[in-house]
Amino acid sequence: MNTVYTYVPSPGHAYPDHPERPGRFEELEPRLGTFDAEALEVSPARREEIARVHHPKLVAALERICRERAPAIIDYAPTYVTPSSFEDALLAAGGALTCTRAVIRGEAGNAFAIVRPPGHHAEPDRAMGFCLFDNVAIAAREALANGVERVAIIDYDAHHGNGTQAAFLNDERVAFLSTHQWGIYPGTGWIDDAPHARGRVVNVPLPAGAGDQVYERVAERIFIPFVKAFQPNLLLVSVGFDAHWTDPITTLGLSTAGYLMLARKAMALAEEYCAGKIVFVLEGGYDSLNVANGAEASFVALTGRGELKAGDANPHTEPDYAARIEEILRWHGFQP
Ligand SMILES: [Zn+2]
Repeated sequence: MNTVYTYVPSPGHAYPDHPERPGRFEELEPRLGTFDAEALEVSPARREEIARVHHPKLVAALERICRERAPAIIDYAPTYVTPSSFEDALLAAGGALTCTRAVIRGEAGNAFAIVRPPGHHAEPDRAMGFCLFDNVAIAAREALANGVERVAIIDYDAHHGNGTQAAFLNDERVAFLSTHQWGIYPGTGWIDDAPHARGRVVNVPLPAGAGDQVYERVAERIFIPFVKAFQPNLLLVSVGFDAHWTDPITTLGLSTAGYLMLARKAMALAEEYCAGKIVFVLEGGYDSLNVANGAEASFVALTGRGELKAGDANPHTEPDYAARIEEILRWHGFQP
């Protein structure tokens, strides 16, 4: 089956010296035509689609701030808005919706929503962490509204997907797993964050320097029982390329080959449990070359075609994470 993608670069959503900038896509954009994937047109998300995740007061407040006060900083991350940010955020959510619809309707085999502003920090009642609306959460609710019974979300951005976790904390139709560097923004995502949802809300807090080897163990030991226990009909992936070892704002250790490995693991799980139905949604990644290489690696996995050119192996030694993996398996009652 074919791979499709949406591309929402939001050139008007820009703030001086901010890492979440249009230039994140400058190395990726010229490569988009080389990925053997078809671009889909994007229309903005409708308010009722946003409202499946976000409080109408947040939507109204963001619209008003963009119209009356932008450019403005709206939280300490810092998260910013410009006069076009409200429309940009609707279009970014629309990019995730378009990909999700194409996959659940069977019009595409799989999909990648390359969008900004990102989404996974935005909570139901507040925008935060460079994120205005939670694109992947809105996509999950769209799938549920169209007859998909269970959706699993795997988030391997470098930061905890607190917004997505908050959206589905009490929604048993959605399972959420996040790998993230511990001790950085936003500070949530320890193993015991959601004691009432063991096995369904899974956090994997990683030490600085965790790279391809640690992530491969995590994927094999934790991703597999997580998906197997939940038996989803659709897999969504919040992918952030800020876990690359040269990202300027984090200190994790993935290489581009590690991103290919993770995408292939996610694909294999979607093949086994979801009839191949998988949608990637872009979150962070603040080095434009890493974003381009990571997206290329993800497309290699999604399309099954092409090969990796980036040779950017992490030269540093990785920390030992074996004991923490066992602790996480025990906490969730996954078979070791
Ligand atoms: Zn991030």
